[in-house]
Amino acid sequence: MEGTQSALQALLRLRAQQPGDAAGASRARARRLLSASRLIVVLAVFAMGATLLCAAIGYGVARQSDERLWLAQRSALRNVIAEARLVFGQPGALDPHVMRLVEQSAGLKGLEFEADPAPGARLMQPVVDADGRITGFLTWQRTHPTTDMVTRLMPLIAGIAIVLVGFAGFSLRQLRRAREDLAASEERARRAGDADKLTGLANHGKMLELLDQALAARGASMATTFALIEIDGLADASAELNAPASDDLTATVAQRLQYVLPVEAQCGRIGSNEFALILTAAADFDVEALVRTALDAIARPYWIDSVARLIAYAGIAQAPFHANTRAELTRRAEIALRAAIKRGPGSIVIYEAAIDAISADEKFIQLELPRALAAGELDLHYQPIVAAQGARIVGVEALLRWKHSVRGYIPPATFIPIAEQMGLMDTLGAFVLRRALSEAKRWSSIYVAVNLSPLQMRDAEIVVLVRKSLEDSGVPAARLMLEITEGVLIENPEEMIKRIKDLHALGVRIALDDFGSGYSNLGYLQRFPLDKLKIDKSFVAALGRSPNGGVIIQAIVALGRALGLSVLVEGVETEEQRVLLRLAGCDEMQGYLFAKPAPARTIDRLLAEPARAGGMRRGAEQAGRQTA
Ligand code: C2E
Ligand code: CA
Ligand code: CA
Repeated sequence: MEGTQSALQALLRLRAQQPGDAAGASRARARRLLSASRLIVVLAVFAMGATLLCAAIGYGVARQSDERLWLAQRSALRNVIAEARLVFGQPGALDPHVMRLVEQSAGLKGLEFEADPAPGARLMQPVVDADGRITGFLTWQRTHPTTDMVTRLMPLIAGIAIVLVGFAGFSLRQLRRAREDLAASEERARRAGDADKLTGLANHGKMLELLDQALAARGASMATTFALIEIDGLADASAELNAPASDDLTATVAQRLQYVLPVEAQCGRIGSNEFALILTAAADFDVEALVRTALDAIARPYWIDSVARLIAYAGIAQAPFHANTRAELTRRAEIALRAAIKRGPGSIVIYEAAIDAISADEKFIQLELPRALAAGELDLHYQPIVAAQGARIVGVEALLRWKHSVRGYIPPATFIPIAEQMGLMDTLGAFVLRRALSEAKRWSSIYVAVNLSPLQMRDAEIVVLVRKSLEDSGVPAARLMLEITEGVLIENPEEMIKRIKDLHALGVRIALDDFGSGYSNLGYLQRFPLDKLKIDKSFVAALGRSPNGGVIIQAIVALGRALGLSVLVEGVETEEQRVLLRLAGCDEMQGYLFAKPAPARTIDRLLAEPARAGGMRRGAEQAGRQTA
């Protein structure tokens, strides 16, 4: 009984516990106790059966024993009578004294002589005379000593049996409850194993299982969508907020997803900053709109301790259009996600074969770039920068060129990010700086602008590299302009201010490249000791297209100048743009209108020509023919 009780208690404790390791240990204990209770039930039932059987057997045995007693009494009586007859003659004539004597010697009770006794009640032994006639009967009391003893024990046996029956019944009930509790706890544990602890959403393993099920159950006209959502900023927020607050942030993301997604969409958290969706719906269902709703929900500000913002990207793959197996579908969703991340914040990319080709290109570049670098396949072209007034060349921007022997021209925007990923940017950056300075030696009247990748700027060694390259080339530091981008400044302002100051100390100037394409916070930029603002070509492209284009670029130029910066506008392609920008007050311009990036010898020739805008445009045509 105690065993069953403690089994039950263990199971009740288990019910109150949270799933986890402790629960796992309790479950094992409950399972052991459950087996113990099972044994108790079996033993109780067995004991009850044994008791009842013993009682039945005991009763039968007792009756036989009583009957044997009667036989013994009868034979003892017969012997006594035979002996008595010898002494006293016929027993019928025995006086009461002799009768008591016979009674005692035969071990009987209430021995009487009856001429005609009533049958059944008493035991009897006929008395015959010398002629063999029955003269009467000696009768004595029928006793049941063994049966009486067993009968007296019966209530006790019945009591034991009843207790055992009750105990077996109770044990059976407890056993059933224990079994139910264990099943429930195992189900809970199973579910806990399927759920992400923080958000309660399905975890990675469960999502794969659900995807398998969705793929198996998909009808002919149905599509199964697998979408991956990656969130940027969760790690930053986690670093800034305390741990519970960052957990809250993740949980809020999950809540928002559940709130905006339809109930049929299965949503899971498959990584610290990665969520997944499975949706089986009619093939013409607008999956992109649904994922867009999810990304918009994630992008709304969060109020946890302070205001936090997150950016999300999504990659989508669908069965049967993109793949039919789980492995292929998830792989393609992953490829689409990588493409979305490249495309920028908030992007959603649905898988297409062309994206796969891009990743194949990436692999090709990864293989070929180190070899190309060693084999000297990389080169620099220079794009002239002209003064807004008079179109005189004041500088050149060094731009990397890679002409692959088989693949042809590979754009820097394609291979530079891969070089960064591969850790080749140091070598590549050093090559550009040294090559640009060594070629710039002969253009003594102009400056050379060299692009620095964010990775290079983050490394304090860049200051040493710049100093050494300047020393080795002999080019005065004032003729070197380094172009950096906003992103790297915003990431780590304090360190970047120091870095810029260190570079300034060498005598070089710093330009902020692609201004307007990123964060574009002029007030913020005031903090950095910059020399030049390069306004992104997208503003110039907007000049003619939108009515406000002109106003915006005028305002930016004015603000840049108000901050004491020299303003350069990139991507100038038409005469109209040039005129408008000059009127807006920009200092320098760069673009195909003046010249395309071209090899150093073309710059030699351009510099030798009279510095006229017209001359520059002719130069551009020639240079364009060479680079294209
Ligand atoms: P960027 O620094 O903004 O370079 C200007 C890009 O605009 C160049 O593209 C140039 O060819 C192009 N461009 C120049 N004038 C015009 C125009 O009138 N219209 C249009 N539509 N485009 C024009 P490119 O050479 O393909 O370089 C792309 C980017 O690759 C560069 O953008 C720069 O971020 C990066 N890059 C190039 N060379 C280097 C390098 O040596 N180091 C680093 N870190 N990045 C480099
Ligand atoms: Ca640049
Ligand atoms: Ca630029």
